[in-house]
Amino acid sequence: MKPRPSFPANLSGSGVPPKSSLSRPVPKTLANATNKSSSVHRPPPVSMGLGLDSSAVRAQMVAKLAAQGVQDALVLQAMGRVERHLFVESALAGQAYEDTSLPIGFEQTISKPNVVARMIELLRQDAQGKLGRILEIGTGCGYQAAVLSHVASEVYSIERLRGLHEKAKKNLLPFRLPNVHLIFGDGMLGFPKGAPYAGIISAAGGDNVPQAWLDQLATGGRLVAPTVTPSGHQALVVIHKTSQGFDRQVLEAVHFVPLKSGIA
Ligand code: SAH
Repeated sequence: MKPRPSFPANLSGSGVPPKSSLSRPVPKTLANATNKSSSVHRPPPVSMGLGLDSSAVRAQMVAKLAAQGVQDALVLQAMGRVERHLFVESALAGQAYEDTSLPIGFEQTISKPNVVARMIELLRQDAQGKLGRILEIGTGCGYQAAVLSHVASEVYSIERLRGLHEKAKKNLLPFRLPNVHLIFGDGMLGFPKGAPYAGIISAAGGDNVPQAWLDQLATGGRLVAPTVTPSGHQALVVIHKTSQGFDRQVLEAVHFVPLKSGIA
């Protein structure tokens, strides 16, 4: 695999944005700061019935993410590129760029843009340029896998619900992302074939971080996962694997769907 890029760089997202910053108005100057990318494969702008094409709404979302404290330029750029409204039911497309989680069927949800950006920023802490291979647990509708495809060289994404695995395949097809590999299986076992990973990110929260994930993480790599803490609440946990062992940080409270074992 590509070695994890060297340190230091881009020490972003090292703290939790203060609650008050979440309601700060979006600076106008940031409104067009990102979203410069225009992939050849991009479908034409879609009117969302808001009097704006989707790239303008997305640029606003990105500006808001930056105002909320997301600093990693690569993450902001990726968030500006991926058309989130194409991953939700058309009736919900109008809400796709609001900072809200949305249902994706099968009793699962797509995380809020802010949480997606925050977690990927944590995953990329200290990274220079793109990360190497990444493992995502919980493909869901495939949105986060698409975002990850722009910040990592390869994305392995595993989903335990066949219906969602199929849905993600369909959703991702028009994006033509050759570096995204969707796997149907139990992510609690990780995906040894792709190991070691420069990063592991879970979109579902368990009582513990499975040993398989720790084993499959490369030295120097980071794991970001919602996990139940001793206080009984779910929080974001970041684990950094070093040659000396594992550094574990418990960050802000979050609400993710449960990590379940087996396939269905
Ligand atoms: N990243 C997703 C979010 C999906 S929600 C997106 O962008 O849409 C979390 C997902 O984790 C659900 O689809 C759920 O079925 C899945 N999940 C839960 N436990 C899992 C496991 N052990 N292995 C793989 N997927 C799992």
